Amino acid sequence: MYLEKELIMMKGNAGEKIQERLFLSDSYLQKAEARILRKQENKVIPDKTILFSFSGGQESDSGWIGGISVSGSGLAELKGEKAIEYELEREPDFKEGDSVTIELDWEKRKKLMRLHSAAHVVSYVFQDVSGNDETIGSNVSSSKARLDYSCDHNISGPLAETEQKANAFINEGHEISIWQEEKGEGAEQIFHWKCGEWDMPCSGLHVKNTREIGRIRLKRANIGKGKERIEILLAD
Ligand SMILES: [Zn+2]
Repeated sequence: MYLEKELIMMKGNAGEKIQERLFLSDSYLQKAEARILRKQENKVIPDKTILFSFSGGQESDSGWIGGISVSGSGLAELKGEKAIEYELEREPDFKEGDSVTIELDWEKRKKLMRLHSAAHVVSYVFQDVSGNDETIGSNVSSSKARLDYSCDHNISGPLAETEQKANAFINEGHEISIWQEEKGEGAEQIFHWKCGEWDMPCSGLHVKNTREIGRIRLKRANIGKGKERIEILLAD
C-alpha cells in the first residue's frame, strides 16, 4: 500500500551483493539453501533469504532457519550494507560460514499475499463505488487487511456494493504483476503493483492472479470521528 516507505527503501537495495532477497523475484519460493554470514548468539544473517521482514504495512513471515523457528527480524548493518537479521528461538549449533536450509511458513505467507492483493483490489473498487480515495492508513496481517479512510459518514452502503463488485472482479481471474521504476544508478527504486488498468506503488508480496485470492468478506469498523475503516477477510 502507500505507507510502506521503509520496505520500498529496503527494496531499493535489492541489487546489493551482501544478501540476496529471493522473495523479491519469486514470492512463491518456500525453501532455499543459504550460508550464514554472521551469527551473534541467537541472531543470524544469511547470504540469501526467502523470509520477508517488515515492522508495518505487511506482517513479517514466519519460518525456520536450520530447523529453528524464527522469532523476529529486522534490518542490521553488515560491512556497511543493510541486511535482514533474523532472531531465532534459541541459539543454533551452526556457525558462521555454514550452509543452512531456510524454510517458509507457506500457509501464513499465502494468506498475507492473498490479503495484500485483495486490499489493492478493494481500494480501487471502493474508490469507483464511493468516490472516496482519501486513504489514511493500511495494514496487512495474515488474519485480515485493513484500509482506513478520512470520511465523515457511515460507509455501510457503498461497502456492500464494493464487496459484491470486488468478488466479481477477483473471480474473473485478472493477472497481477510487479514492475520496477528505473530511477538511474544508485537512486531509490520504486516497485509497482499492476492489475489491468490499476497501478500503484507497493512494496509487498502478491499472488499472480486475482483468482488465487478467493472469496472475500468486507466489514466496517468505526475508528473515531471523521474516519472509517474497511476490514478485509478471506471467506474461504
Ligand atoms: Zn501494497
